[in-house]
Amino acid sequence: MMSIQDKPQDSSPERNSSPTQREARLRALIEHSHEVSLLLDDQGTILYASPALTHVLGYLPEEISGQAMLSWVHPLDQSEASENIASLQAHTRQKLFTTQRYRHKDGSWRWLELRAVNKLADPQVAALICSLRDITTLKDAEIEQQRLVEESDLAHTHLLTVLQQMPAGVMIAEAPSGKLLLSNDQVRQIWHHSFPEANEVDKYDRYKGFHSDGTPYAGYEWPLARSIRQGESVREEEITFLRGDGTRGIMSVSSAPILNTQNEIIAGVVVFIDISERKRLEQLKDNFISMVSHELKTPVTSIKGYTQLLQKHFQRSDEKQSLYFLAKMNYQLDKLTDLINEILSISQLDLGMLNLRPKVFDLVEVVREELESQQATTATHKLQLKGVEKLTITGDCERIGQVIHHLVSNAIKYSPGRKQVCIEICHSDQAALIHIQDYGIGIDSEHFSRLFERFYRVDEPLEQTFPGLGIGLYLAHEIIQRHQGHIWVESQKGQGSTFSFSLPLQPHTAIAKETSHDNH
Ligand code: ADP
Repeated sequence: MMSIQDKPQDSSPERNSSPTQREARLRALIEHSHEVSLLLDDQGTILYASPALTHVLGYLPEEISGQAMLSWVHPLDQSEASENIASLQAHTRQKLFTTQRYRHKDGSWRWLELRAVNKLADPQVAALICSLRDITTLKDAEIEQQRLVEESDLAHTHLLTVLQQMPAGVMIAEAPSGKLLLSNDQVRQIWHHSFPEANEVDKYDRYKGFHSDGTPYAGYEWPLARSIRQGESVREEEITFLRGDGTRGIMSVSSAPILNTQNEIIAGVVVFIDISERKRLEQLKDNFISMVSHELKTPVTSIKGYTQLLQKHFQRSDEKQSLYFLAKMNYQLDKLTDLINEILSISQLDLGMLNLRPKVFDLVEVVREELESQQATTATHKLQLKGVEKLTITGDCERIGQVIHHLVSNAIKYSPGRKQVCIEICHSDQAALIHIQDYGIGIDSEHFSRLFERFYRVDEPLEQTFPGLGIGLYLAHEIIQRHQGHIWVESQKGQGSTFSFSLPLQPHTAIAKETSHDNH
């Protein structure tokens, strides 16, 4: 236990200094401090300010002596500051610690940390003692940080709002793991509630998707997985999927990788919509077109038959004018038949019903027959066949005949005023080759890459004068591709075009020697 006598001696070096020396040292301490020391009377009027005031607020101490401290406080901090002073005055030995903005002499505002203590009751002091420290830099950094946090919170909220309101399922997943970071409500709606979340690419096969041939999507095959792993951008891939309630639907899926500034993949985003209803309606439309073109075929074939009977009849009686009109009718009927066949084939293609019926046949024979029938209806052009005499291939001879028919009619159609159309059949070691050359209007090379697209027609004034739907070359391309062949064009504007296609040869293909013969 410690007694009065036991009280430890003051061991600081200050114990040996005189009171005057101590006071001088204290004054020096206050006057050289970076903090401002203030003495206020009970009304908050400044009695004393240390020289640091000039550094902190720009004023000389004598400039503000006798003025109310509140007059420098920021309007927004005024009421708090008045309350602080009132409460400080009311309670003896009350201490205060706060931060407020004060006006600098240059008009700017400075954040000051204020500590104060009430020493009004101490007769030797009889003042409120305050110290002020400039924390503007600190406070500004704090405010900036706060602003950035709020800004990023706001951006995040905006992003979530946009995601939630998007009429499509959206998922964002981390790379390379594939862990799901974000998804919207549409995702659950499209998948129907029991949406199977997968947190790594290898488990994406929990999303039950199927290729067009019915095989399931492996985890790594999903567009999001491909974007995360290979950086692939996928556009509108159509995937059949199994919903949580056991029903099937079709979705159109697009995905893309998200890269950082170093071009590294940090995430992937996928957007998908349920297109089941649209697909159902498309199928209805395709069925309808298929049915209509089928129904049209029968009466047209029958009219064609009667036209031929009439032709024979008038040939016997040598009625030239009637024969002339019948030839015109026949020509138009052939055009109509071509059109119906094209539309029918396109709808079969869309319905997945364009099935090939392959058999071994002589390609030269098919070409020859086709040219003979076209030559019979063409008075303007001479169709010339050259090349090998026999070339057996395996394929759907009707479909290949359809391609030849279309390319030859195009050659005739797009070469008005020119007589010659040359058809050549040749072969390489592996493929049969057919070239159909005309000397007509030709095609600019800028159109080559799109010519075989569905509905593509060269959109120039001259070309617009020719009738057509822009589906023949698309159909030809599809048929040749299904035979593992290729189709291409070489052309020069104003000089004519050569459309060619190749078909793979079987190992024991029969080939006869070359020949040249006209079909007229
Ligand atoms: P279309 O019914 O319009 O002829 P296609 O699919 O057969 O449809 O051809 C697409 C387009 O390619 C045509 O509109 C035409 O501009 C161009 N084209 C096709 N064949 C030829 C050709 N032999 N000469 C010039 N242009 C051609």
